[in-house]
Amino acid sequence: MIHIQNYINGKFSDPIQNEWLDNSCPADGVVYGKLPNSCAKDVQNAYEAAHNAFPSWSVTSIAKRSAILLKIAALIQANLERFAAAESKDNGKPISLSRSIDIPRAASNFRFFGKAITQFYSESHEARNQKTINYTLRHPLGVVGCISPWNLPLYLLTWKIAPALAAGNCVVAKPSEVTPYTAFLLGEICNEAGLPKGVLNIVHGLGATTGQAIVEHPHIKAISFTGGTETGKLIAKTAAPLFKKLSLELGGKNPNIIFADCDYDKMLTTTIRSSFSNQGQICLCGSRIFVEASIYKQFKKDFVERVRQLVVGPPNEESTQIGALVSKTHFEKVMSYIEEVDNLQSRIIFGGKRVPVEGYENGYYLSPTIIEVDSNQCKLNQDEIFGPVVTLMPFDSDDAVLAMANDVNYGLSATVWTNNLKRSLLFSEQLEAGIVWINTWMQRDLRTPFGGVKSSGVGREGGFEVLRFFTETKNICINYE
Ligand code: NDP
Repeated sequence: MIHIQNYINGKFSDPIQNEWLDNSCPADGVVYGKLPNSCAKDVQNAYEAAHNAFPSWSVTSIAKRSAILLKIAALIQANLERFAAAESKDNGKPISLSRSIDIPRAASNFRFFGKAITQFYSESHEARNQKTINYTLRHPLGVVGCISPWNLPLYLLTWKIAPALAAGNCVVAKPSEVTPYTAFLLGEICNEAGLPKGVLNIVHGLGATTGQAIVEHPHIKAISFTGGTETGKLIAKTAAPLFKKLSLELGGKNPNIIFADCDYDKMLTTTIRSSFSNQGQICLCGSRIFVEASIYKQFKKDFVERVRQLVVGPPNEESTQIGALVSKTHFEKVMSYIEEVDNLQSRIIFGGKRVPVEGYENGYYLSPTIIEVDSNQCKLNQDEIFGPVVTLMPFDSDDAVLAMANDVNYGLSATVWTNNLKRSLLFSEQLEAGIVWINTWMQRDLRTPFGGVKSSGVGREGGFEVLRFFTETKNICINYE
């Protein structure tokens, strides 16, 4: 059994009330560890440690902060196999994915922000006629809260922590209670890298209690949250009267628009990834596939054929391409959408069933699922399912597909496959999304702004955008007449 502890003031500790939650393995449904069910007092202790560390960390030289973050990055990389195995076990994702994407990206997050902070700058505005010079100071906020989901556990947690620390803040973080393992391991790495005690504190527990205690803490100055839209609403409601800065990265129901003039083979290969990577549990997955009518039949045939070849299996096997869904609750939620299929306006054309995996009979394995729908208005096209489930629909014109793509509450990302330059520019402009990919998917450059519109969130992460989020600006005006 793994004994996960809170990481407060540079030390590992049990929760004050000695209450624990089970940590189970999605591959076989077996409980393999316990984690703290932390209460508000644990959060308060974490806050105090962060608060005490802030005066020193906030004035630590950029060179030193940068060096520590780069050291953390190097240590994550050096422990790649250990972290990758832990992430797969906790989340159910194929080991090949955690080894090639999740953990290297967690290291990159620290490496990127360790370097970005050395290039961060503020502005000055000179008005020679008035003999004034204005300049802007960007100071760290103080103690900030970072709350992250279970789908890309260490990747998304560090995407918040790294810029917050780089900018000179101290952090109280809460990973998802469903996937706490790699966040726990991160504490050891931080100590080894020489991160001063109290600068980063990781408190484990339930969203409704531990998470809520962070959000409603009167002196935690900002909340950076990634998770579901409903949770985002609740957080916004709690934080607004306290005038906290808020960054909300929420759900998505992203369109993948395929025109007949695209590079077909590249599109097909990428569409397999954008549909089913991480069992479809990525907020950026293209879960609504719209295909130009002239190639619809061909696409349907080829897509089903390729999806049929995907290997569903235990996360720890190298050959596995589709692992287990993260939990029983989530598996049941995804299945409930599949049960919506009525065979009239929607039809399963592939998958839709639990997959029995030998030796892992109680794991949460679901076949990649393709559903043909007749209307973009159906629940399957309007709700975020967040599993290995995509819908297919043909379209006849640019206007029709643009209208359908935008006719949804979400607006995180969109993908367009076309070799027509004019069309790609018009779609980039008119799609209601924070991120538009043309002839690619999830090709990330950490300098770019990342976030959504509509119910997909508020604010942008990434690059200097997030460093601005994690700093407070102050304008100084000097008259030198
Ligand atoms: P949740 O919203 O359920 O949880 C996210 C985090 O918030 C967890 O740590 C959770 O804790 C915590 N939490 C829950 N309730 C509260 C609360 N009242 N106050 C403070 N914290 C709380 O999301 P999931 O973990 O289920 O993640 C899936 C969702 O995340 C999907 O909707 C997905 O689209 C979205 N997502 C968005 C991304 C983006 O960049 N836009 C990227 C990745 C995912 P606990 O787990 O312990 O309940």
